[in-house]
Amino acid sequence: MYDFYFGNKEQIKKNPEEFLIFCKRMLPRWINGIPDSECIAIFRTLNLVKSSKPILLETGCGASTLALFLYAVLNKGKVFSWDTNGSKGSFLRSVISEAICRPLEINLYEYWNFIGFDSTSEHAGIPLIKELNYKADFCFFDSWHTLEHLMKELKCFENVANEEFIVALDDAYYTKRSNNYAYLNMIRKKLDLRPVKEPKSNFCDPFYSVVQKYLNKKYQRVEKIDDSYKKEYGDDLFFRYFEADKLAMESLGMEKKRSLEHRYDCWKVNSVKHLDMNGVDVCVLCGSGDVHTITDKMRHEKIGTVVRCVKCDLARLMGAQKYEEKLDGFYEEQYALHYFLGVKSDASTLHKTFLPVQKDRVKKLAPYLHKTDKVLEVGSGTGYFLETIRNKVTEVQGIELNKNHAAYASEVLGIPTINKAHGNSDLPLAYYDHLCLFQVLEHATNPIKLIRELKPFLKTGGHLHIEVPNLLDPMVSFYDVEAYRNFFYQIPHLYYFTPETLAKICSKVTGLKPIKIFGFQQTSLINHLNWAFWGKPQKSRWDCIQPVLPEDFLGSDISEETKTTLNEILLDVDQRYKEFLESNNFSDNLFATFVVE
Ligand SMILES: [Zn+2]
Repeated sequence: MYDFYFGNKEQIKKNPEEFLIFCKRMLPRWINGIPDSECIAIFRTLNLVKSSKPILLETGCGASTLALFLYAVLNKGKVFSWDTNGSKGSFLRSVISEAICRPLEINLYEYWNFIGFDSTSEHAGIPLIKELNYKADFCFFDSWHTLEHLMKELKCFENVANEEFIVALDDAYYTKRSNNYAYLNMIRKKLDLRPVKEPKSNFCDPFYSVVQKYLNKKYQRVEKIDDSYKKEYGDDLFFRYFEADKLAMESLGMEKKRSLEHRYDCWKVNSVKHLDMNGVDVCVLCGSGDVHTITDKMRHEKIGTVVRCVKCDLARLMGAQKYEEKLDGFYEEQYALHYFLGVKSDASTLHKTFLPVQKDRVKKLAPYLHKTDKVLEVGSGTGYFLETIRNKVTEVQGIELNKNHAAYASEVLGIPTINKAHGNSDLPLAYYDHLCLFQVLEHATNPIKLIRELKPFLKTGGHLHIEVPNLLDPMVSFYDVEAYRNFFYQIPHLYYFTPETLAKICSKVTGLKPIKIFGFQQTSLINHLNWAFWGKPQKSRWDCIQPVLPEDFLGSDISEETKTTLNEILLDVDQRYKEFLESNNFSDNLFATFVVE
């Protein structure tokens, strides 16, 4: 009955909005409550959802279900609809399967779950999204049309929502607090009963205004979406088509023409907290605002304060989560110049500097490495690591924000490297066996979010390898070398990890199981002595690593033989020194490997 022909798959995918209205117009009035312009506005609002596999909810189904369903099908998402009227569910099922599923050759049940129950129920309502291990991106609220019920549903949704989510309201101009008297009186009128008088206490501010205030108070980033409904409802055929019952409803106070502008309202909310309710900078890991100050002396006399969270121990630069704007362009322009002291920013010099230490990284991956593996590195620089590992695997891929470095990797070395953020890349998901984040996580404004975003690139059973500087660096944890301390804490390092806090950060990402987290000492005993003697870094990265007596330690009349012997002894001592540091996690770096379950 509903298998009217609109066009083939390609035509539907090319004109989804027209197809949506084509399907909507097949619906009878009882299940077609929202105007066409609102249905299109819902579909367009969904385009603002960023998740790759969106989870879309609605309370109360009807024409909106078609919009959500079509969007889910086109974007590999899922829809969950709650409605206490079970016949709506089975009716929509027949329309959707004939009108949408048949031409698109898809299985309805893969995309849509209808739940004929109260949306606020603990065990069968919105809360079950959490049990299914989903995070919802969007909810269209269209059920009971009272403020009390709406707020109850909204709170259920917030509990299962993603970090960024969209709240969309139908009949947002309504002002009923506990009971929908207009609806009650319509039922009574049909039975020839007198209308009951609505008590004053039942009136509230319009839903859109209450919800807007509620969201603004609770979240720091709430954006009112400029929806297309407000521009288009004036010309909507739907209103003329159903004019007769609309006038009747208006007289009963159900549809108020004046307020129609607020019939549909929606907001995009980012729930990541920067500051708590009192404007205090809070910890990304536990939300606490209580801190101990570690230092306010930063490398190159930059302004900043490094603190340690009293509750969970994670160390951060104050304001870390707000750092995004300040970092704009940093990696592009001055990263190498500024960050690696004594190293020129040109790509080939940088490449030569870092190439020698890459073998050690490959060794750390070796236990998990197979010839058929595919490796993705985020923050791959000039490609030094990928160049070192590429003969041991089948495929390597880099992501690098610095344009020159990315170009060096792809053009000079022939290592596929994209010069854009991972979120804008079209790299395949669930594809890579290894994802490497070397000296990257400490720069992320929100390390939990970064790992959550990157994990989908890995296959099940794939490995995530993280290398970060260690907050327990011996030079700051048990030596007292002021010059080093003032060098160690640096902008743009936004977080400082210990094995424990690194594990806690990763435990916030579902499906990541730690295999090994260990400290390793990269710089030599000589480097530590150099700091203590001269109070400054050695000349190059390579010098820092080699346990070789530097020329400025030595007098002019030392024989080559003595020098060789001293360096041999030093090599032994350095070995023991590093073993001691590493076995106690007092090392300058941490390495962690996780497996995707
Ligand atoms: Zn904390």
